[in-house]
Amino acid sequence: MSELTLPTPTTASPEASSAQVLATYRRHLSRGRARLASLTGAAMEVASEGSRVWDAEAKEYLDCGGYGVFLLGHRHPRVVEAVIEQIQRHPMATRLLLEPTAATAAAALASVTPPGLERVHFVNSGAEATETAIKLARAHGRHRLISAIGGYHGKTTGALAVTAKPLYQDPFRPLLPAEHVLYGDVDALANALATGGPACVILEPMQGEGGAVLPPPGYLTRVQQLCTEHGAFFVLDEIQTGLGRLGTWWGADTEGIRPDVLLVGKNLSGGVIPVAAAVATTEAYAPFDKDPFLHTSTFAGSPVAMAAAAAAVAAIRDEGLVDRARTLGEELLSRLRDALAPLYGHTVVDIRGRGLLLGIEMRDEQAAGELVLNLLEAGLLVNHSLNAQRVVRLTPPAVLTAADLDWISRAFTSAASVLTRSTASRKGTR
Ligand code: PLP
Repeated sequence: MSELTLPTPTTASPEASSAQVLATYRRHLSRGRARLASLTGAAMEVASEGSRVWDAEAKEYLDCGGYGVFLLGHRHPRVVEAVIEQIQRHPMATRLLLEPTAATAAAALASVTPPGLERVHFVNSGAEATETAIKLARAHGRHRLISAIGGYHGKTTGALAVTAKPLYQDPFRPLLPAEHVLYGDVDALANALATGGPACVILEPMQGEGGAVLPPPGYLTRVQQLCTEHGAFFVLDEIQTGLGRLGTWWGADTEGIRPDVLLVGKNLSGGVIPVAAAVATTEAYAPFDKDPFLHTSTFAGSPVAMAAAAAAVAAIRDEGLVDRARTLGEELLSRLRDALAPLYGHTVVDIRGRGLLLGIEMRDEQAAGELVLNLLEAGLLVNHSLNAQRVVRLTPPAVLTAADLDWISRAFTSAASVLTRSTASRKGTR
């Protein structure tokens, strides 16, 4: 792997100063994004390795955010090496000839998916994986879409129809018709399936952007049974939960279920090159077997992305990161509960999660925003949840060391005391 040159405050931003970058964001990218960046002191991320990220002022952060992409940490040597080797030899394909890295990546992915899911369609993003599943369902005549409230499946127009959040949907209506049921409620789904034509049900095994929400035990099994009874297509979106994030290879494994299509993304990239996939049963995949040009995209399955995907799967397996995600997750949950104990019951409403997908539900959005900023100040990167703004979300890498765990505890203890002081002073000024 190439040597990491860490920034120093003087050599930090060869490209431009943070003020210049902010101005360019305002002019060419997004004023809203620039406004948000100002809240975080307009820090610029410029280097990363393992669990760590550095900004242009050489401040070091521990990354428990990244929206679920970095199970392997940043610049995992095995993924970086595979990608560099591929770039130096053949990064993009002509798409006319057979492409061996696609075959290797598909076999690698299929070797870890639940039995029966072995037909792989690679794409460039999670939303495209959702589109792929919706098109497969429609090709099988399943035109009704049913998804869960709070679920997140991406923001392309098809995926948005099943991402049941008015904030993201309303400006783009009319969308594909879709029905939304309460997540975790078997009866609600049964009622929806009992009325109307053949359907496609799309759900996450644990809602990530919905705020780290686990369904009741047995829910996924019942969903699969109901889909079978009603001849519905079952798409399980494991873009955030899959490839070890929950301390099992898949959320599906906790109940031993097998959907018609499994969606994979985020960790598949190894944190290095964007790539996602829809993995189907042979029956579900039949339309793409019949006509390989039915659903294509120029960059999908590019050799460089395939090299990253195959290396990511191999690294997760060979380094035992699925088990590590489970044990680290248990340890982290108890550390978060200790550090946030002084806020529990008033400012902090709940601390929950499975494996390395953890959520801290705060009293309100303001408290959640303050916690994210206080943690940033203390050198810890975390995320809010796109569909649950009160929930601060952690998706740490499965390569955390004992020192990293201590860093996280310290950051939370310090963020909690700042939050206590600011809450007290707000009360005092009322
Ligand atoms: N599905 C789930 C469960 C996700 O968490 C996400 C992204 O957060 C997506 C789909 C969309 O993926 P992408 O942002 O790569 O389009």
